Amino acid sequence: MLEKIENGAVVSLAYTLRLTNGEVIDFSEDDEPLEYLHGAENIVPGLERQLTGLKVGDKKKVEVEAADGYGAYDPEDVEVVDRDKLPKDIHLKLGMFLAVGDEEGNLSEAYVREVTPKKVTLDFNHPLAGQKLLFDVQVVNIREATADELAHGHPHSLDHDHDDFDEDDEDFDFDDDDVLNFLDLDADEEDDEPNNHTH
Ligand code: ZN
Repeated sequence: MLEKIENGAVVSLAYTLRLTNGEVIDFSEDDEPLEYLHGAENIVPGLERQLTGLKVGDKKKVEVEAADGYGAYDPEDVEVVDRDKLPKDIHLKLGMFLAVGDEEGNLSEAYVREVTPKKVTLDFNHPLAGQKLLFDVQVVNIREATADELAHGHPHSLDHDHDDFDEDDEDFDFDDDDVLNFLDLDADEEDDEPNNHTH
């Protein structure tokens, strides 16, 4: 049992994440906390840093600037593609996520920002890029990570994979089986600049 949050601790956290406009983006109650490995970049750096040293039962409001959260919004990181280039079997929906492959076979995730009869706008920015994040956190438990967990860089005890995301908010729903589709946009694209969509 560890006294305080430090590197190598598996931390159970109840939290609410809000944006500055008050919108609740995500939350985890104390009976089903988020579990993460401290110091392993499981959570955004600005939050992780400010949790260091907290004890079980501690509550804290943590403000995370975009640069310490999901990064600045990059307007260049958006591509408009012809709709007829996309596979016909994809049921396009605003806010859905697509796995997009480049010519080296690297996959990156984009979300559908706009759909018109001819064009689809794919945004490779994280949906929370450019946003200041306001967390209300409560430390539910702290324990030492096992050797396995340290080696893997994440906790093993709970299967909290992606099931904690808010199903009602389709902008942030990574769960739907139909959400992740593979696209190969470079099939007939003359693009002389390198594709840097690695997130
Ligand atoms: Zn593992």
